[in-house]
Amino acid sequence: MYIPLLDLSVKDQVLKSELLAAVDTVLSHGRVVLGPEVEQFEKKIAEVTQTKFAVGLNSGTDALYLALRSLDVGPGDEVITTPLSWIATLNAIILCGATPVFVDIGEDLNINADLIEEAITPKTKAILPVHFTGKMCDISQIAEIAANHDLILIEDAAQAFGAHVDGRMSGSFGRVSCFSMNPMKVLNAYGEAGAVVTDDEVLYEKLIALRYGGTIDRDDCHYPSLNGRIDTIQAAMLLVSLRYYEDKISRRRKMAEFYSLALGDLVSCPKETPGYYDVYYTYSVVAERRDELKNYLEARGIESKIHHPILMPYHTAYKDNLSKPNIPVAERQVARILSIPSHENLTMEEAHYVADNIQEFYR
Ligand SMILES: *Cc1c(COP(=O)(O)O)cnc(C)c1O
Repeated sequence: MYIPLLDLSVKDQVLKSELLAAVDTVLSHGRVVLGPEVEQFEKKIAEVTQTKFAVGLNSGTDALYLALRSLDVGPGDEVITTPLSWIATLNAIILCGATPVFVDIGEDLNINADLIEEAITPKTKAILPVHFTGKMCDISQIAEIAANHDLILIEDAAQAFGAHVDGRMSGSFGRVSCFSMNPMKVLNAYGEAGAVVTDDEVLYEKLIALRYGGTIDRDDCHYPSLNGRIDTIQAAMLLVSLRYYEDKISRRRKMAEFYSLALGDLVSCPKETPGYYDVYYTYSVVAERRDELKNYLEARGIESKIHHPILMPYHTAYKDNLSKPNIPVAERQVARILSIPSHENLTMEEAHYVADNIQEFYR
């Protein structure tokens, strides 16, 4: 048996024909950049995330960078964030010229909201938390801290499309919130894609400009920027994905429930906080003898992965240039985290095989 961590091939023939039909439509009308499907996609994203405006972009990385740019976060500003995320979160802060301030994580692998206030300085401009693994961080508390200190809240919700807490969707808390729809994400394109959402019309207009060379009416440049437009074909395929993502999430949640029952005594499994609806971008356990376990599974045909093995401040580009952060929990947890196969194409038989092997390893 070989069980990949992720399977991006389209197995469902109905889905495949809907995707091909969506592409066919775009090829026929020919508006391959900012075509009608982009607008439909943006409407739908705003609706699902309980926000007023969405802007389709070509990646989640662009979403983060342009969100910060739209809010004039730049040199001299500090941005509070988590050390444990995909490097795009930090790159966006750095590329804007701002200074990252890392606040340690908690047992749930998300930023520890209780430690944020002590990291605030007169230079702090924004808080950029990540909903890591598809579990929302303590966003209500963070929103309150941001409001009390007059700071901008930006959500990196790249891993958490469709997640909610007490009925409020991920992405609805930030002044601007960022999503990725890359093929690995819960709501996936078939190539690169992303989006930002906001309730603020002025920011929305600015984001539209920033998406295309910083131009107003696509002519006069008001803000130096790059080209971050989403392809119409990706937007069209995302409209198809949007019909299926809820089903996909519920299958991932069922799989997570199975794993947590089977493995809860052996490794630390993700726990769902009351009121939270987690979407399981990854099913990440915290395991003792992690590297040995990973090799053991590999030898039995089970792929697993560390998301993300290097804490953001310790990447080569940054480790000698940023002041040393105080992040003992992140340092401890990053040596223990492991994502195991848990996608919607996984059969129950395969999940049992994964669980059995993890049990055998610890026995
Ligand atoms: C995937 C991801 C991004 C970047 O999205 P891309 O679309 O791959 O550029 C940013 N932040 C987090 C937390 C992510 O998981």
